[in-house]
Amino acid sequence: MRLKKAEREQMRLKYGGHCAYCGVVLVGNKWHEDHLEPIIRQPDKPTERPGNHNLANMMPACAPCNISKGRQTLEGWREWIAGHVNSLNNYHAIYRLAKSYGLIAETGAEVVFHFEKVTA
Ligand SMILES: [Zn+2]
Repeated sequence: MRLKKAEREQMRLKYGGHCAYCGVVLVGNKWHEDHLEPIIRQPDKPTERPGNHNLANMMPACAPCNISKGRQTLEGWREWIAGHVNSLNNYHAIYRLAKSYGLIAETGAEVVFHFEKVTA
């Protein structure tokens, strides 16, 4: 099911023209329609959870958020993002070096998605 142009514009404006997750402004037509509860499409296999392909379950997302979220549930993706700081500290010497020179400050902030801030 492809969205009609008016439906797609309505979805873009769902959170004031911002990505539902990171809050970046969605410009032009290069944003994605994300399934909040994921569906799983695989070549040569039936789509899993096709019932999740409906407008109420779809969120306007920038490409980096949509690609990063992939098939993950919202909570799974939240945990995965929160773990990025540990990954940077464990595996990226350049990150640790920049941190040691005070260029990076870790805040310990919770991962809160844009749509949670605007609907709370
Ligand atoms: Zn985003």
